Amino acid sequence: MDIKQTADKHIANTYARYPLALVKGQGCTVWDDQGNAYTDFLAGIAVCNLGHAHPQLVEALAEQARVLWHVSNLFYTQPQTELAQWLTAHSFADRVFFGNSGAEANEAAIKLARKYAKEKGEPGRYRIVSMKQSFHGRTMATLSATGQEKVRKGYDPILEGFDFVAFNDIEELSCAIGPATCAVMLEPIQGEGGIIVPHKEYLAQVRRLCDEKGCLLIFDEVQTGIGRTGKLFAYEHFGVAPDILTLAKALGNGLPIGAMLATEKAASAFVPGAHASTFGGTPLVTAVALKVLRLLTEEGILAQVEAKGAYLRQKLEALKAKCPVITDVRGKGLLVGALLDTAGAPIVKACMAKGYLINCVQDNILRFAPPLIISREEIDGLMQCLEEVLKEA
Ligand SMILES: *Cc1c(COP(=O)(O)O)cnc(C)c1O
Repeated sequence: MDIKQTADKHIANTYARYPLALVKGQGCTVWDDQGNAYTDFLAGIAVCNLGHAHPQLVEALAEQARVLWHVSNLFYTQPQTELAQWLTAHSFADRVFFGNSGAEANEAAIKLARKYAKEKGEPGRYRIVSMKQSFHGRTMATLSATGQEKVRKGYDPILEGFDFVAFNDIEELSCAIGPATCAVMLEPIQGEGGIIVPHKEYLAQVRRLCDEKGCLLIFDEVQTGIGRTGKLFAYEHFGVAPDILTLAKALGNGLPIGAMLATEKAASAFVPGAHASTFGGTPLVTAVALKVLRLLTEEGILAQVEAKGAYLRQKLEALKAKCPVITDVRGKGLLVGALLDTAGAPIVKACMAKGYLINCVQDNILRFAPPLIISREEIDGLMQCLEEVLKEA
């Protein structure tokens, strides 16, 4: 079977795919159906933080698969319970709601914020202030929360009640929060928007505003969570805790899982029947997610992320000095962006031809989000490839 041709005929045409059919992965390497190897600096978009086919994750999956896959949330299960216990022990949160994706985690966050206001006796509070250039998902509620026209286009009428302000601008946010605002929702570091790190004080200022004005603070850490930025959660870099936080991408290292974490106070608005998900937190995925978190924190992987990220950024800075087509290097930990003064797509394609997978956000920002187990040698290899590509361009 020609995978590409058959896929293009039978799968909904929603993805502009790269012309590669990948068949196998191991560590930081994936292979296509022609036998070509690629070093993976994208990790399924910040998902496979422990790389591909990690033997202990394969084992955890197989072990749980032999025992129990799914029983519905009408029953208690041990893996889900242990995962919730782990997440709350390692974060600001007291309670966790499990879903299957980032969008579903954000959907839960949006519902909880609205419900919390109602339960508090403020039924007029339903609006959420979100950020321009943000990305929160593709369901109707989460695309309505997303500050990018290209994501919302064609889906009017979108869900009512979202206001957008510039990220990193506390004055604009202050003006936008009104008596009808129930929450402020943002990514601590914007991912799809272009790897945008806020200035040092911003999140603390946002926290203060939310407290003053009586609204909840929601951090979308679907992309930045689970060690990506060098801390388990990106909010730890800023010393600011939200009321609600969402996770997905790397939590299952590729198994679909999403989670919404909340303080006891915020979570109190969710009572039996208020929200649900059939597949949310099945024994199978939660057993693997628990293993992901243990490996990440107990095997010293997380501890190396900041140093590896600094190494990658430093190498990119050196390349920027040689190749003026790079105009900015930014990010935290192993979520790194390089702004170009030219289109990124041809660069991504040329890197692919040389055996390196990266991608591009916002047309001209190269994104690097390798597995957190990436080695310095692999980073050196990518830098050599990029230098050749940028010089040829
Ligand atoms: C990827 C992403 C989402 C959406 O996650 P899905 O699992 O695709 O629904 C939401 N928020 C952020 C910040 C993301 O990066």
